[in-house]
This record gives sequence, structure tokens and C-alpha cells, in this order.
Amino acid sequence: MRVGALRETAIGEHRVALDPEVVVRLVKDGREVVVESGAGTAASFPDASYERAGAQILSRAEVIATSDVLAVVRCPEASVVSALRSDQLLIGLLDPLNNLPVIETLAAKRVTAVAFELLPRTVSRAQSMDALSSQASAAGYRAAIVAAEAFGRYLPMMITASGTARPASVIVIGTGVAGLQAIATARRLGAVVTGYDVRADSREQVESLGAQFLTSSITAGAGEGGYARAMTAEEQAGQQAELAAALKSFDVIITTAKVPGRTPPLLVSAETLAALKPGSVCIDLAASDRGGNVAGSIDRERVVTPGGVIVVGAGELAADMPTSSSQMYARNVLAMINDLVTDDAIAFDLADEVRSAVVLCHAGQVTSRAVRTALKLDPVLDPPQDPLHAGQPEVPEAAAAASITIEFDPKNGQAA
Ligand code: NAD
Repeated sequence: MRVGALRETAIGEHRVALDPEVVVRLVKDGREVVVESGAGTAASFPDASYERAGAQILSRAEVIATSDVLAVVRCPEASVVSALRSDQLLIGLLDPLNNLPVIETLAAKRVTAVAFELLPRTVSRAQSMDALSSQASAAGYRAAIVAAEAFGRYLPMMITASGTARPASVIVIGTGVAGLQAIATARRLGAVVTGYDVRADSREQVESLGAQFLTSSITAGAGEGGYARAMTAEEQAGQQAELAAALKSFDVIITTAKVPGRTPPLLVSAETLAALKPGSVCIDLAASDRGGNVAGSIDRERVVTPGGVIVVGAGELAADMPTSSSQMYARNVLAMINDLVTDDAIAFDLADEVRSAVVLCHAGQVTSRAVRTALKLDPVLDPPQDPLHAGQPEVPEAAAAASITIEFDPKNGQAA
């Protein structure tokens, strides 16, 4: 079985899907590893470090052509997708709900694609594969550092011979994985920190980090799977008004609020920005080409409002801490490979709780319920249409696809 890693090509993406440490572990497990030349350079892993770990350095085309399992960080570009062949396994943060045509193409090419975004994160077996959390954690940490760097004042209280500086007040809006890490880091930097979220259980998590919790009238914000639900228009308006009044007094605002598959909610309006003190800083971790939590934030850009507020669009902040982020991500990839691949074969029991969620397409079909719903296909989970359920006598072909084993010829790494 040959595992490959490609150089990432998205603008500003410095991470890599495999690091040398994970290569050592893959090789120890009897896998061959191939890495595109230069894939790890931006994450401070030169080609030589992969070679020392036991990987072979190849060209991009060679990695694509010869890998059985291709690990990526972000959804690959069209030229890679079109070069993939049947029975290859693609693993990454494929952002499936925003890349539906790509998933359809992968299905048509009979590639098996796995997206970390759809992992059932609360299942204990899945936690070592939780790339959303590992990357959110890095992004949250980094958000506090970027805020400290952009802010023109001290974050901690400073008592010096030249006078005393009061500590900065920081609010973190959205206290999931990234938000809690941002709170912890801002506290370590000495700021006075407040957290805010619409999920009722977030108060306890915020307070356990020694931060205050901003109480809001919107408390029933939890939706499916522990995620926030989308607010109604009325709730959104009420929330914006409440936040506008509260946010004026903060020096630094870090926003991380997301609702899966939806446009991020706008939480810091243009009016709120205009009311902030000059020199205040907003770090928007939800910034994307679909909008963000802060009015006017542009991903990967730093803009200064006419009122002197610094707005940093930081939708992929983990990519700016590429060494640690890649090390964590590579461990998630390793855990996923070890879960999916046994005895040198990709063995899928797609009725399994984790696999049925993360496998987007397999054996020529879109298998993920979330993706099928987004594509307006019949939801898969009701037999007899369901290719995930093996052994349905009514649909022998689909049933055969459900529990498929792809054996690999150890000599050439190709499906036998
Ligand atoms: P996320 O990235 O989807 O969103 C970030 C935060 O924004 C969330 O806390 C969300 O509630 C909040 N948010 C969304 N809309 C908001 C709004 N309008 N106003 C204020 N806040 C808003 O979140 P995440 O980090 O992926 O975490 C989602 C959930 O999954 C959390 O409950 C987290 O504790 C849970 N989780 C559990 C595990 C586990 O059990 N192993 C692992 C990771 C995450």
C-alpha cells in the first residue's frame, strides 16, 4: 500500500498532509510513502527530512499516479481531480458541502473520498482523527498571538517606572475549539478575557478557563451534534443589537462563530465597528469568500476602518502556523488511514458510524447522507437505495459496493 502526499497549492496554504514523524510510523506499519518534492518546505520539512524518514521524493504527477492513498490538506484543484484513478483513496479537509461538483466528479471517477469535516466528533474512536479540532486549536491559539501583534498596546497589566498600563480587554465570540484556545492564550498573555456563545453549555467551559461569560438573551442556540443552529432573522437582529451595546468597551474582538454548511453569522456590524475605539483589533476566524463574522473582513487581509479599527480576516489561521498544524494534521491522517486500511487493503464496512459519515463517495456512488441531501439526491440511509447497507437482496450491486475490499499488489502498489 502506497501513501502519497502532495504539495498544497491554495494561496497562503503552508501546511502539508504528512510530516516526517508520521512517515516513520507509516513505514514502520509496512506502507510505502511517496511525497511530492517541496511538499513540506513551507512547513519547515525539507525533502531530505522525508527521505531520512523513509519516504521517496517524486514529482507531482508520479505521486498522483502511484499512490493508493492520497493525503491532502485542502480540496485539490481540478487538474489533480481529473488525474485521479478508480479505487484511489483521497483523504483531506475537502470542504464537501462547498465543493459539490468536485465530489460528483470524484464519485463518477470511482475514487473513494474521505472528508474530515463530516467526522462524528463526539464518537470516542474518532477523536484521534479529528482534524477540525486540531486545526481549530492551532487557529485559536494563533488568533490571540495575531491580535497581540496587531494591537498597539500591552495586553497584560504592566507596572513600570514609567507608569502603569492597564490590561487589554478581549472578547472571544464563539467558544468552540478555536474560541476556547483563543481564550486560554489571551489569558496567558495577560489580557482580561470574556467569552460569548449561543450554546448554553459554553458558559461553564469559558468560566473554567478563568474568563468571564457575556450573558445574552439568546441561550437556546445548540443544534445537532453540539453545533450551533442557524438563528432566525429576528434572533439575529436581537443578537446584533445586544452585541453592539456590549462590544464597544472591548479592545480586542476575536470571532470564531460558524454554523456548518451555512454562511457565518454577521456578529460585528459596520455600526459596531464604527463605535469601537481607534486601535481596537478584530480577528475574524470565520472570514471566507462567503462572508465572515465581522462586517467588511476580507480573508487573508488586514484592513483599517476609517475609525482606526484594525480588522484581520483570518479564515485559515492554522495555515500560518504550518509546522505544528501539519504535525497534528498528519497524526489525524495516520489515524484515519489506520482506521480505514487493514491488512494492506482498504476494507470498508460503510454501515460503520464513522465511515458512513466521512466517506463521501465510494464505488461510483455519493454515499454521504449530508452530501446526498445537498445534491438533492435521495438520502442514502433508507434501504433499499442505500449502498451503505450491505446485504440488501433487492439491490445486489449496491450491496456489493457497501462492503468492498480493495486488495493492493505489493509489487506495484496498484489495485489487484
Ligand atoms: P464551530 O467552529 O462550528 O463554531 C464555533 C463556535 O461558534 C461554536 O461554539 C458555536 O456555538 C458558535 N456560534 C455559532 N453561531 C453563533 C452565533 N450566532 N453567536 C455566537 N456564537 C455562535 O464549533 P466547533 O469548535 O467545531 O465546536 C462545535 C461543537 O462541537 C462544540 O459544542 C464543541 O464543544 C463540540 N466538539 C466536541 C468534541 C468532542 O466531543 N470530542 C470535539 C470537538 C468539538
